[in-house]
Amino acid sequence: MFNSARLKLTAWYLLMIMLVSTVFSLTIYRVEATELERFARAQRFRIERRYLENQRGSPLPPRQNLLPPPDPELVNETEGRLLLTLLAINGGILLFSAGMGYFLAGRTLKPIQEMMEEQNRFISDASHELKTPLTSLKAAIEVNLRDKNLRIAEVKTLLSQNLGEVNKLQSLTESLLQLTRYQKTVNKMQFEILSLSAIANEAVKKIAPIASEKRVTLRKELADRKISGNKDALINLLVILLDNAVKYSPEKSVVRISAREIDHLLVITVKDQGIGINKEDLPYIFDRFYRADSARQKSGAGGYGLGLAIAKKITESHHGTISVQSQPGEGTTISVSLPLIRAGS
Ligand code: ATP
Ligand code: MG
Repeated sequence: MFNSARLKLTAWYLLMIMLVSTVFSLTIYRVEATELERFARAQRFRIERRYLENQRGSPLPPRQNLLPPPDPELVNETEGRLLLTLLAINGGILLFSAGMGYFLAGRTLKPIQEMMEEQNRFISDASHELKTPLTSLKAAIEVNLRDKNLRIAEVKTLLSQNLGEVNKLQSLTESLLQLTRYQKTVNKMQFEILSLSAIANEAVKKIAPIASEKRVTLRKELADRKISGNKDALINLLVILLDNAVKYSPEKSVVRISAREIDHLLVITVKDQGIGINKEDLPYIFDRFYRADSARQKSGAGGYGLGLAIAKKITESHHGTISVQSQPGEGTTISVSLPLIRAGS
């Protein structure tokens, strides 16, 4: 598909360049031919006048003997040579622009091609993830519908299982929507000056129920700082990091959220004492749908591998960076660096 688009774009480039080049060459040809005639006429006139001045007083020779008009064959030959030169130049331009056009068309289409490939990958990943809960939902309903002796207690169990799958589907679609939303709204988000402490409080409040269920202590160790950003997006970012920290930590452990200034950056860190991440998984954890085996094996730690991908998009939309440090069995620290707003600025 992209090859034919590339060829079509090259043809359009060529058509435009050749149109300009042909009009330019025809103009040169016409101007040069007229100039040639004008030059011959001027030269004849000058020689004629000089001759007449020399002959003043003596009888005039017949006019046609003064100077013959320019040889039409010579004129044709000169014009022909000009035409050939212009044709050769146009041939060169055609060859050069075909090569350049093909190269430039490739360069122009490359980002579009990459974007389309990325979109296709996203659609196929998302469909794949949506298919699994839908298939198990469908299978459970079909099996139970076939059972003629189904009791009300069994129906209730089935419905609660279905509800579990529907909840998973809902959280997956919400995450997918967030991912596409942050992808689209990079540079378009409403930014305001915010209090980091207030943002962290909101995020901690959202995670508190999950943390208390696991008896994980959430410690907020940050002085108030001003940051520029989108409130909902930043709360979401901290919720994602805190959710992971709690999810991948043992019971009764501690999760710390802190912030410090380094150079012109405000570095927010979320640190846990959880299962940690293997070295070979570290480069991929910000990729969409990536889950380390240790996370998959951990009972009760369900997920789709979208949280950190969303966190990365939010950080990038705030002109920041996100990084991870982790030791398997000891814990994980995720750091988000955002441009700092100094007092008075
Ligand atoms: P989701 O966030 O979509 O519910 P998830 O938590 O598995 O699912 P991410 O938040 O994107 O997905 O994290 C990707 C992977 O990185 C996780 O599956 C896990 O393997 C690893 N990971 C992330 N945070 C931590 C952490 N604090 N401790 C240990 N592993 C982590
Ligand atoms: Mg997560």
